[in-house]
Amino acid sequence: MALLIRGGEIVTVDSRVRADIYVENETITRIGKNLDAPPNTEIIDAAGKLVFPGFIDPHVHIYLPFMATFAKDTHETGSIAALIGGTTTYIEMCCPNRNDDALAGYELWKSKAAGKSACDYAFHMSVTKFVKETESQLRQIVADGTASFKIFLAYKNFFGVDDGEMYQTLELAKRLGVITTAHCENAELVARLQQKLLAEGKIGPEWHEPSRPESVEAEGTGRFATFLENTGATGYVVHLSCEKALRAAMDAKSRGVKVHVESVLPHFLLDKSYAERPGVEGMKHVMSPPLRAKQNQDALWKALAGGSIDTVGTDHCPFDTEQKLLGKDSFVNIPNGIPGIEDRVNLLYTHGVKRGRLELDRFVDAASTRAAKLFGLFPRKGTIAVGSDADLVIFDTNYRGVVSVKSQHVNNNYNGFEGMEIEGRPSVVIVRGKVQVRDGNFVGERGRGKLLKREPTHF
Ligand SMILES: [Zn+2]
Repeated sequence: MALLIRGGEIVTVDSRVRADIYVENETITRIGKNLDAPPNTEIIDAAGKLVFPGFIDPHVHIYLPFMATFAKDTHETGSIAALIGGTTTYIEMCCPNRNDDALAGYELWKSKAAGKSACDYAFHMSVTKFVKETESQLRQIVADGTASFKIFLAYKNFFGVDDGEMYQTLELAKRLGVITTAHCENAELVARLQQKLLAEGKIGPEWHEPSRPESVEAEGTGRFATFLENTGATGYVVHLSCEKALRAAMDAKSRGVKVHVESVLPHFLLDKSYAERPGVEGMKHVMSPPLRAKQNQDALWKALAGGSIDTVGTDHCPFDTEQKLLGKDSFVNIPNGIPGIEDRVNLLYTHGVKRGRLELDRFVDAASTRAAKLFGLFPRKGTIAVGSDADLVIFDTNYRGVVSVKSQHVNNNYNGFEGMEIEGRPSVVIVRGKVQVRDGNFVGERGRGKLLKREPTHF
Protein backbone atom coordinates (compact mmCIF):
# COMPACT_ATOMS: atom_id res chain seq x y z
CA MET A 1 0.00 0.00 0.00
CA ALA A 2 1.37 3.40 -0.99
CA LEU A 3 0.45 6.89 0.16
CA LEU A 4 1.22 10.25 -1.39
CA ILE A 5 0.89 13.28 0.84
CA ARG A 6 0.68 16.15 -1.59
CA GLY A 7 1.47 19.84 -1.24
CA GLY A 8 1.89 20.27 2.50
CA GLU A 9 4.52 22.35 4.24
CA ILE A 10 6.89 19.88 5.89
CA VAL A 11 8.19 21.10 9.23
CA THR A 12 11.12 19.48 10.98
CA VAL A 13 13.69 20.82 13.44
CA ASP A 14 16.05 21.59 10.55
CA SER A 15 13.83 22.83 7.78
CA ARG A 16 10.49 24.07 6.48
CA VAL A 17 9.77 23.11 2.90
CA ARG A 18 6.74 22.66 0.69
CA ALA A 19 7.01 19.18 -0.81
CA ASP A 20 5.29 15.85 -1.34
CA ILE A 21 5.95 12.74 0.72
CA TYR A 22 5.71 9.27 -0.75
CA VAL A 23 5.21 6.35 1.58
CA GLU A 24 5.60 2.68 0.73
CA ASN A 25 4.31 0.24 3.29
CA GLU A 26 5.50 1.67 6.62
CA THR A 27 8.36 3.86 5.46
CA ILE A 28 8.98 7.24 3.82
CA THR A 29 10.72 6.45 0.52
CA ARG A 30 10.68 9.78 -1.35
CA ILE A 31 10.37 13.48 -0.54
CA GLY A 32 10.25 16.04 -3.34
CA LYS A 33 8.32 18.49 -5.47
CA ASN A 34 5.53 17.20 -7.71
CA LEU A 35 6.15 13.53 -7.07
CA ASP A 36 4.29 11.17 -9.34
CA ALA A 37 2.63 8.10 -7.99
CA PRO A 38 1.62 4.78 -9.46
CA PRO A 39 -2.08 3.96 -9.81
CA ASN A 40 -3.69 2.66 -6.60
CA THR A 41 -1.71 5.11 -4.52
CA GLU A 42 -3.88 6.78 -1.91
CA ILE A 43 -3.49 10.51 -2.27
CA ILE A 44 -3.89 12.85 0.69
CA ASP A 45 -4.20 16.53 -0.10
CA ALA A 46 -2.17 18.51 2.44
CA ALA A 47 -2.28 21.87 0.64
CA GLY A 48 -2.49 24.73 3.11
CA LYS A 49 -1.56 22.46 5.99
CA LEU A 50 1.57 21.79 8.02
CA VAL A 51 3.08 18.31 8.03
CA PHE A 52 4.85 17.36 11.25
CA PRO A 53 6.70 14.22 12.28
CA GLY A 54 4.49 12.08 14.52
CA PHE A 55 4.58 13.49 18.04
CA ILE A 56 6.12 11.57 20.92
CA ASP A 57 4.91 11.76 24.51
CA PRO A 58 7.89 10.68 26.60
CA HIS A 59 5.99 10.32 29.87
CA VAL A 60 2.61 8.63 30.24
CA HIS A 61 0.91 6.22 32.61
CA ILE A 62 -1.64 3.85 31.13
CA TYR A 63 -1.69 0.74 33.31
CA LEU A 64 -1.05 2.00 36.83
CA PRO A 65 -1.96 0.59 40.22
CA PHE A 66 -1.43 3.59 42.48
CA MET A 67 -2.70 4.85 45.84
CA ALA A 68 -5.20 2.00 46.32
CA THR A 69 -6.73 2.30 42.84
CA PHE A 70 -5.97 2.07 39.09
CA ALA A 71 -5.58 4.82 36.50
CA LYS A 72 -8.61 4.78 34.20
CA ASP A 73 -7.16 4.30 30.72
CA THR A 74 -6.29 1.06 28.99
CA HIS A 75 -4.01 0.90 25.98
CA GLU A 76 -7.16 0.75 23.81
CA THR A 77 -8.52 4.04 25.12
CA GLY A 78 -5.21 5.80 25.82
CA SER A 79 -3.69 5.10 22.41
CA ILE A 80 -6.76 6.30 20.52
CA ALA A 81 -6.84 9.49 22.59
CA ALA A 82 -3.12 9.95 21.92
CA LEU A 83 -3.56 9.51 18.16
CA ILE A 84 -6.50 11.89 17.91
CA GLY A 85 -4.22 14.45 19.55
CA GLY A 86 -1.37 13.77 17.11
CA THR A 87 0.81 11.60 19.36
CA THR A 88 1.94 8.54 17.39
CA THR A 89 4.34 7.12 20.00
CA TYR A 90 4.21 7.20 23.76
CA ILE A 91 6.64 5.99 26.37
CA GLU A 92 4.91 4.49 29.35
CA MET A 93 6.36 4.29 32.82
CA CYS A 94 6.55 0.62 33.82
CA CYS A 95 6.00 0.96 37.57
CA PRO A 96 6.11 -2.15 39.73
CA ASN A 97 6.29 -1.17 43.40
CA ARG A 98 9.00 -2.07 45.90
CA ASN A 99 7.34 -5.35 46.84
CA ASP A 100 7.09 -6.56 43.26
CA ASP A 101 9.66 -8.43 41.24
CA ALA A 102 11.09 -6.15 38.52
CA LEU A 103 11.10 -8.71 35.73
CA ALA A 104 7.60 -9.96 36.54
CA GLY A 105 6.46 -6.32 36.58
CA TYR A 106 8.05 -5.68 33.20
CA GLU A 107 6.27 -8.70 31.69
CA LEU A 108 2.98 -7.60 33.24
CA TRP A 109 3.26 -4.08 31.78
CA LYS A 110 4.16 -5.50 28.37
CA SER A 111 1.17 -7.83 28.46
CA LYS A 112 -1.20 -4.92 29.10
CA ALA A 113 -0.08 -3.18 25.88
CA ALA A 114 0.56 -6.07 23.49
CA GLY A 115 -2.04 -6.20 20.74
CA LYS A 116 -4.03 -3.40 22.39
CA SER A 117 -2.32 -0.12 21.56
CA ALA A 118 -3.24 1.62 18.31
CA CYS A 119 -0.05 3.73 18.40
CA ASP A 120 3.56 2.69 18.83
CA TYR A 121 4.94 2.57 22.34
CA ALA A 122 7.95 1.91 24.52
CA PHE A 123 8.66 1.75 28.25
CA HIS A 124 10.86 3.41 30.81
CA MET A 125 11.68 0.68 33.35
CA SER A 126 11.23 1.82 36.93
CA VAL A 127 13.87 0.69 39.38
CA THR A 128 12.02 0.75 42.69
CA LYS A 129 14.58 -1.17 44.76
CA PHE A 130 18.08 -2.50 44.21
CA VAL A 131 18.57 -6.04 45.50
CA LYS A 132 20.67 -9.07 44.63
CA GLU A 133 18.88 -9.98 41.39
CA THR A 134 18.29 -6.40 40.19
CA GLU A 135 21.39 -6.06 38.00
CA SER A 136 20.80 -9.26 36.03
CA GLN A 137 17.09 -8.46 35.63
CA LEU A 138 17.82 -4.95 34.37
CA ARG A 139 20.39 -6.32 31.93
CA GLN A 140 17.71 -8.64 30.57
CA ILE A 141 15.20 -5.80 30.26
CA VAL A 142 17.72 -3.57 28.44
CA ALA A 143 18.61 -6.47 26.12
CA ASP A 144 14.89 -6.76 25.38
CA GLY A 145 14.98 -3.22 23.96
CA THR A 146 13.93 -1.12 26.94
CA ALA A 147 16.94 1.18 27.21
CA SER A 148 15.82 3.73 29.81
CA PHE A 149 15.24 3.59 33.56
CA LYS A 150 13.02 5.56 35.92
CA ILE A 151 13.66 6.24 39.57
CA PHE A 152 11.47 7.99 42.13
CA LEU A 153 13.10 10.03 44.86
CA ALA A 154 9.56 10.58 46.22
CA TYR A 155 6.87 8.02 47.22
CA LYS A 156 8.85 6.55 50.11
CA ASN A 157 8.14 2.83 50.79
CA PHE A 158 6.18 2.45 47.55
CA PHE A 159 8.08 3.42 44.37
CA GLY A 160 10.83 5.43 46.04
CA VAL A 161 14.53 4.54 46.20
CA ASP A 162 17.03 5.75 48.79
CA ASP A 163 20.34 7.40 47.91
CA GLY A 164 22.20 4.08 47.99
CA GLU A 165 19.81 2.54 45.51
CA MET A 166 19.97 5.63 43.34
CA TYR A 167 23.75 5.33 43.26
CA GLN A 168 23.63 1.64 42.32
CA THR A 169 21.06 2.29 39.59
CA LEU A 170 23.04 5.15 38.05
CA GLU A 171 26.31 3.26 38.24
CA LEU A 172 24.73 0.35 36.35
CA ALA A 173 23.02 2.72 33.91
CA LYS A 174 26.40 4.29 33.12
CA ARG A 175 27.92 0.87 32.37
CA LEU A 176 24.95 -0.12 30.20
CA GLY A 177 24.72 3.23 28.35
CA VAL A 178 21.16 3.70 29.57
CA ILE A 179 19.55 7.06 30.38
CA THR A 180 17.84 7.32 33.79
CA THR A 181 14.74 9.44 34.23
CA ALA A 182 13.94 10.68 37.72
CA HIS A 183 11.05 12.05 39.76
CA CYS A 184 12.90 14.55 41.93
CA GLU A 185 11.37 15.41 45.29
CA ASN A 186 12.80 14.86 48.77
CA ALA A 187 10.75 11.98 50.18
CA GLU A 188 11.60 12.61 53.81
CA LEU A 189 10.61 16.26 53.67
CA VAL A 190 7.34 15.43 51.89
CA ALA A 191 6.45 12.86 54.58
CA ARG A 192 7.30 15.25 57.43
CA LEU A 193 5.45 18.21 55.95
CA GLN A 194 2.37 16.07 55.22
CA GLN A 195 2.27 14.92 58.88
CA LYS A 196 2.71 18.46 60.14
CA LEU A 197 -0.09 19.90 58.00
CA LEU A 198 -2.51 17.07 58.80
CA ALA A 199 -1.79 17.49 62.54
CA GLU A 200 -2.82 21.13 62.13
CA GLY A 201 -6.13 20.03 60.61
CA LYS A 202 -5.10 21.10 57.10
CA ILE A 203 -6.69 18.33 55.06
CA GLY A 204 -7.97 19.88 51.80
CA PRO A 205 -6.37 19.72 48.32
CA GLU A 206 -5.05 23.28 48.76
CA TRP A 207 -2.49 21.83 51.22
CA HIS A 208 -0.98 19.43 48.70
CA GLU A 209 1.34 22.09 47.25
CA PRO A 210 2.56 23.36 50.64
CA SER A 211 3.36 19.74 51.57
CA ARG A 212 5.85 19.52 48.68
CA PRO A 213 7.09 23.08 48.13
CA GLU A 214 9.43 24.24 45.38
CA SER A 215 12.49 23.90 47.62
CA VAL A 216 11.71 20.19 48.11
CA GLU A 217 11.73 19.67 44.34
CA ALA A 218 14.85 21.80 43.90
CA GLU A 219 16.66 19.69 46.51
CA GLY A 220 15.67 16.46 44.72
CA THR A 221 16.74 17.86 41.37
CA GLY A 222 20.07 19.06 42.72
CA ARG A 223 20.75 15.77 44.51
CA PHE A 224 19.91 13.70 41.41
CA ALA A 225 22.28 15.90 39.40
CA THR A 226 25.03 15.48 42.00
CA PHE A 227 24.66 11.71 41.76
CA LEU A 228 24.87 11.96 37.97
CA GLU A 229 28.00 14.06 38.35
CA ASN A 230 29.66 11.45 40.52
CA THR A 231 28.67 8.39 38.50
CA GLY A 232 29.09 9.89 35.02
CA ALA A 233 25.60 8.66 34.13
CA THR A 234 23.14 10.53 31.91
CA GLY A 235 19.90 11.67 33.52
CA TYR A 236 16.56 13.20 32.64
CA VAL A 237 14.47 15.08 35.19
CA VAL A 238 10.79 14.35 34.61
CA HIS A 239 7.91 16.79 35.06
CA LEU A 240 9.97 19.73 36.32
CA SER A 241 7.51 22.29 37.65
CA CYS A 242 9.28 25.43 38.87
CA GLU A 243 12.08 27.93 38.40
CA LYS A 244 13.98 26.83 41.55
CA ALA A 245 14.27 23.25 40.32
CA LEU A 246 15.16 24.47 36.83
CA ARG A 247 18.00 26.51 38.31
CA ALA A 248 19.31 23.42 40.14
CA ALA A 249 19.34 21.49 36.87
CA MET A 250 20.95 24.34 34.92
CA ASP A 251 23.65 24.81 37.58
CA ALA A 252 24.55 21.15 37.17
CA LYS A 253 24.50 21.41 33.40
CA SER A 254 26.92 24.33 33.54
CA ARG A 255 29.31 22.07 35.49
CA GLY A 256 29.17 19.57 32.63
CA VAL A 257 26.67 17.17 34.21
CA LYS A 258 24.72 15.22 31.60
CA VAL A 259 21.25 16.17 32.75
CA HIS A 260 18.21 16.74 30.54
CA VAL A 261 14.91 18.29 31.53
CA GLU A 262 11.29 17.47 30.80
CA SER A 263 8.37 19.55 31.88
CA VAL A 264 4.76 18.58 31.38
CA LEU A 265 1.77 20.37 29.93
CA PRO A 266 -0.03 21.27 33.19
CA HIS A 267 2.89 23.35 34.49
CA PHE A 268 2.80 25.64 31.46
CA LEU A 269 -0.93 26.30 31.54
CA LEU A 270 -2.27 25.74 35.05
CA ASP A 271 -1.18 27.11 38.42
CA LYS A 272 -1.79 26.24 42.05
CA SER A 273 -5.01 28.25 42.24
CA TYR A 274 -6.66 25.33 40.38
CA ALA A 275 -5.83 22.97 43.26
CA GLU A 276 -7.09 25.57 45.74
CA ARG A 277 -10.63 25.33 44.38
CA PRO A 278 -12.99 23.81 46.94
CA GLY A 279 -13.66 20.08 47.10
CA VAL A 280 -13.37 17.82 44.12
CA GLU A 281 -12.62 20.73 41.77
CA GLY A 282 -9.34 21.21 43.59
CA MET A 283 -8.69 17.46 43.78
CA LYS A 284 -8.87 17.20 39.98
CA HIS A 285 -5.70 19.28 39.86
CA VAL A 286 -3.64 17.39 42.43
CA MET A 287 -0.45 15.96 40.94
CA SER A 288 3.20 15.71 41.97
CA PRO A 289 5.18 17.86 41.74
CA PRO A 290 2.19 20.12 42.38
CA LEU A 291 0.89 22.99 40.30
CA ARG A 292 2.94 26.03 41.30
CA ALA A 293 2.62 29.79 41.74
CA LYS A 294 1.82 31.40 38.41
CA GLN A 295 5.08 33.35 38.11
CA ASN A 296 6.90 30.09 37.37
CA GLN A 297 5.15 29.79 34.01
CA ASP A 298 7.14 32.59 32.39
CA ALA A 299 10.40 30.96 33.42
CA LEU A 300 9.25 27.59 32.06
CA TRP A 301 8.13 29.03 28.71
CA LYS A 302 11.44 30.90 28.33
CA ALA A 303 13.46 27.80 29.19
CA LEU A 304 11.40 25.79 26.74
CA ALA A 305 11.88 28.35 23.98
CA GLY A 306 15.64 28.38 24.58
CA GLY A 307 15.95 24.59 24.79
CA SER A 308 16.95 24.39 28.48
CA ILE A 309 13.77 22.40 28.91
CA ASP A 310 14.30 19.64 26.37
CA THR A 311 10.86 18.06 26.10
CA VAL A 312 7.21 18.54 26.96
CA GLY A 313 5.37 15.41 28.04
CA THR A 314 2.12 15.00 29.89
CA ASP A 315 2.58 12.60 32.84
CA HIS A 316 -0.86 11.52 31.59
CA CYS A 317 -2.51 9.78 34.51
CA PRO A 318 -6.32 9.83 34.61
CA PHE A 319 -8.22 9.27 37.84
CA ASP A 320 -11.91 10.12 37.80
CA THR A 321 -13.73 12.25 40.35
CA GLU A 322 -14.89 9.24 42.35
CA GLN A 323 -11.26 8.16 42.74
CA LYS A 324 -10.14 11.68 43.56
CA LEU A 325 -12.70 11.70 46.40
CA LEU A 326 -10.72 8.93 48.11
CA GLY A 327 -8.83 11.93 49.45
CA LYS A 328 -11.84 13.91 50.71
CA ASP A 329 -10.72 13.56 54.33
CA SER A 330 -7.00 13.96 53.67
CA PHE A 331 -5.12 15.43 50.73
CA VAL A 332 -2.46 12.73 51.07
CA ASN A 333 -5.02 10.16 49.85
CA ILE A 334 -5.97 12.01 46.65
CA PRO A 335 -4.68 9.90 43.73
CA ASN A 336 -2.03 12.07 42.04
CA GLY A 337 -2.44 12.77 38.36
CA ILE A 338 -4.19 14.52 35.53
CA PRO A 339 -4.93 13.40 31.96
CA GLY A 340 -3.36 15.24 29.02
CA ILE A 341 -2.35 12.79 26.31
CA GLU A 342 -5.06 13.97 23.91
CA ASP A 343 -4.52 17.70 24.39
CA ARG A 344 -0.74 18.14 24.62
CA VAL A 345 0.04 18.90 20.97
CA ASN A 346 -2.93 21.17 20.32
CA LEU A 347 -2.51 23.15 23.54
CA LEU A 348 1.26 23.49 23.12
CA TYR A 349 0.80 24.65 19.54
CA THR A 350 -1.91 27.14 20.52
CA HIS A 351 -0.43 28.54 23.73
CA GLY A 352 3.18 28.20 22.58
CA VAL A 353 3.47 28.79 18.84
CA LYS A 354 0.32 30.82 18.24
CA ARG A 355 0.87 33.03 21.28
CA GLY A 356 4.43 33.79 20.18
CA ARG A 357 6.19 31.95 23.00
CA LEU A 358 7.67 29.16 20.92
CA GLU A 359 9.19 28.95 17.45
CA LEU A 360 7.74 26.24 15.25
CA ASP A 361 11.02 24.28 15.03
CA ARG A 362 11.39 24.24 18.82
CA PHE A 363 7.77 23.08 19.12
CA VAL A 364 8.54 20.08 16.87
CA ASP A 365 11.76 19.45 18.78
CA ALA A 366 10.16 19.59 22.24
CA ALA A 367 7.11 17.54 21.32
CA SER A 368 8.81 14.96 19.10
CA THR A 369 12.42 15.09 17.91
CA ARG A 370 14.27 15.63 21.19
CA ALA A 371 12.52 12.69 22.86
CA ALA A 372 13.36 10.49 19.87
CA LYS A 373 17.02 11.49 20.16
CA LEU A 374 17.28 11.07 23.93
CA PHE A 375 15.48 7.75 24.03
CA GLY A 376 17.07 5.90 21.12
CA LEU A 377 14.27 6.28 18.58
CA PHE A 378 15.93 8.72 16.14
CA PRO A 379 15.86 8.84 13.10
CA ARG A 380 13.29 6.06 12.94
CA LYS A 381 10.94 8.41 14.79
CA GLY A 382 11.00 12.15 15.42
CA THR A 383 11.66 13.41 11.91
CA ILE A 384 10.47 13.34 8.31
CA ALA A 385 13.20 11.78 6.19
CA VAL A 386 13.67 9.05 3.62
CA GLY A 387 14.01 5.81 5.55
CA SER A 388 12.14 7.03 8.63
CA ASP A 389 8.90 5.45 9.77
CA ALA A 390 5.96 7.15 8.06
CA ASP A 391 4.53 8.66 11.27
CA LEU A 392 3.01 11.91 10.06
CA VAL A 393 0.65 14.53 11.40
CA ILE A 394 -1.10 16.71 8.83
CA PHE A 395 -2.07 19.72 10.88
CA ASP A 396 -4.91 22.10 10.16
CA THR A 397 -3.96 25.53 11.53
CA ASN A 398 -7.40 26.92 10.68
CA TYR A 399 -9.28 24.65 13.05
CA ARG A 400 -10.83 26.36 16.06
CA GLY A 401 -12.17 24.51 19.06
CA VAL A 402 -12.36 24.22 22.82
CA VAL A 403 -11.01 21.45 25.04
CA SER A 404 -13.82 19.66 26.81
CA VAL A 405 -14.66 16.45 28.62
CA LYS A 406 -17.66 16.22 26.29
CA SER A 407 -15.54 15.52 23.23
CA GLN A 408 -12.53 13.73 24.74
CA HIS A 409 -11.52 10.11 24.13
CA VAL A 410 -9.52 9.70 27.31
CA ASN A 411 -11.40 7.43 29.69
CA ASN A 412 -12.16 9.95 32.41
CA ASN A 413 -15.10 12.07 33.58
CA TYR A 414 -13.25 15.38 33.64
CA ASN A 415 -10.63 17.25 31.65
CA GLY A 416 -8.17 19.36 33.64
CA PHE A 417 -7.89 21.83 30.73
CA GLU A 418 -11.66 22.25 30.35
CA GLY A 419 -12.66 25.30 28.35
CA MET A 420 -9.23 26.15 26.93
CA GLU A 421 -9.17 27.25 23.30
CA ILE A 422 -7.28 25.42 20.62
CA GLU A 423 -6.24 26.98 17.35
CA GLY A 424 -5.26 24.07 15.16
CA ARG A 425 -5.49 20.30 15.35
CA PRO A 426 -4.42 17.24 13.36
CA SER A 427 -6.63 16.57 10.36
CA VAL A 428 -4.87 13.34 9.41
CA VAL A 429 -2.63 11.17 11.61
CA ILE A 430 -0.58 8.41 10.02
CA VAL A 431 1.30 5.68 11.88
CA ARG A 432 3.81 3.65 9.88
CA GLY A 433 2.02 4.38 6.65
CA LYS A 434 -1.52 3.78 7.84
CA VAL A 435 -4.12 6.51 8.33
CA GLN A 436 -5.34 6.15 11.91
CA VAL A 437 -7.18 9.45 12.44
CA ARG A 438 -9.18 11.83 10.27
CA ASP A 439 -10.61 15.09 11.59
CA GLY A 440 -10.82 14.05 15.20
CA ASN A 441 -12.12 10.55 14.53
CA PHE A 442 -10.30 7.28 14.92
CA VAL A 443 -10.62 5.50 11.55
CA GLY A 444 -7.71 3.10 11.81
CA GLU A 445 -6.81 -0.28 13.11
CA ARG A 446 -6.92 -1.05 16.82
CA GLY A 447 -4.07 -3.01 18.33
CA ARG A 448 -1.69 -2.16 15.51
CA GLY A 449 0.87 -0.41 17.74
CA LYS A 450 4.29 -1.96 18.10
CA LEU A 451 6.61 -2.13 21.06
CA LEU A 452 9.66 -0.18 19.91
CA LYS A 453 12.98 -1.82 20.70
CA ARG A 454 15.67 0.69 21.59
CA GLU A 455 19.45 0.43 21.83
CA PRO A 456 21.40 2.13 24.62
CA THR A 457 23.02 5.35 23.33
CA HIS A 458 24.33 7.09 26.47
CA PHE A 459 27.85 5.75 26.94
ZN1 LIG B 1 4.76 10.03 35.95
